[in-house]
Amino acid sequence: MQRLTRDEIGRATAKLQSIIDEVCGSCELNCCLQGTMVGSDDARRAAKAARLSPEVRARLVEGLHKRGAELRRDLEGLRRTAQLLEMRFGADRPREVAALLSALEKWREFCDFLERDFRPEPEDLIRCLVFSGVRATALRAMRAFPGGERVLPTLAGANTSFQAGRRGVKADRCLFHVDGCLIPTAKPHKCADFYCASDPGLVHEVVDRMTFDEFTLAHVTPSTREGFLEDLQTELALGREFFEPKVVMGGDGDLPEAAADLLREALGRVRTEWIEGGHLDVAVDLPDIKRAPDDEALVIHCGSIDAIGIYELAVDLVRARGAALRPALLIFADELNRQSGLEHPLWTRREMSQPLSSLNLVAIV
Ligand code: SF4
Ligand code: SF4
Repeated sequence: MQRLTRDEIGRATAKLQSIIDEVCGSCELNCCLQGTMVGSDDARRAAKAARLSPEVRARLVEGLHKRGAELRRDLEGLRRTAQLLEMRFGADRPREVAALLSALEKWREFCDFLERDFRPEPEDLIRCLVFSGVRATALRAMRAFPGGERVLPTLAGANTSFQAGRRGVKADRCLFHVDGCLIPTAKPHKCADFYCASDPGLVHEVVDRMTFDEFTLAHVTPSTREGFLEDLQTELALGREFFEPKVVMGGDGDLPEAAADLLREALGRVRTEWIEGGHLDVAVDLPDIKRAPDDEALVIHCGSIDAIGIYELAVDLVRARGAALRPALLIFADELNRQSGLEHPLWTRREMSQPLSSLNLVAIV
């Protein structure tokens, strides 16, 4: 049995990251600078990442405090602009002035929340999502005055997020972007899966420069047996909706049974299927993922899985994403079969995205 090693995974991950740094670093469409992709499901994943990693937790808290300070600077710029607009148009437009002041008050409340109260818990991360609405409301209130949005970048100043674009004030960068992404292990699928709008873009470069197996390996997280079980316990303690389907490679002995016990304790019903020593053919052996019952976990233990099978499963999970809950699916493969050299038919430079973030890939090393 050829086990995955930390080095092998590290090399693939570093290669993917260097392509992202190079291609996204020089892209004028830079995705992170065009507002946030984070939705409520992603906020839950971010909260889970913070529970699982003290580093992510500390980075999130520090990063969002910094963002709070930046938004307060923006607020000063908005206030300067609002004062001028009120002086010039206030007498004729009292309702517009009231709407603008109310929008600025909401902005202030959000700054207070980020700077003083924010904790990386699900409810606070979900509250962060209101900022898109807070910003849109403030800009709309500015637009209610003649030239209001046009003067904002000048009056607010260059050290604010209000920069002039061709169609009014440009979008602000993602709230979770502070010297890079604050939630690298829990990015929204849209960020992690490269919904790349550049041409040629990230998907072309990745497919040209990496092998399919390398790309799959770059999504694997190395862990120890104890670390994996601890993380699983934490995830299950958060609740069923936090569970993400997993493929665990290289777990030995009774790890599948130990994980099945944890699932049973947390979720009640667990079905186990052992394909002793056999290769898992996802297309043939797995039931229709979309129809997996919400109240039953499925644990499969097989001898091997290959990158095509993992990719096939990820594609199925993307298709099932509309469902309220992700399937409670846990696959243990003794090894990742790296002999086939075959590629999944959807691994192509013409595709807009790659789906691997829809499941957790873990290697016990
Ligand atoms: S994913 Fe594509 S569009 Fe987005 S920053 Fe990277 S290269 Fe640009
Ligand atoms: S979540 Fe992270 S990767 Fe996605 S747009 Fe925000 S900063 Fe960028």
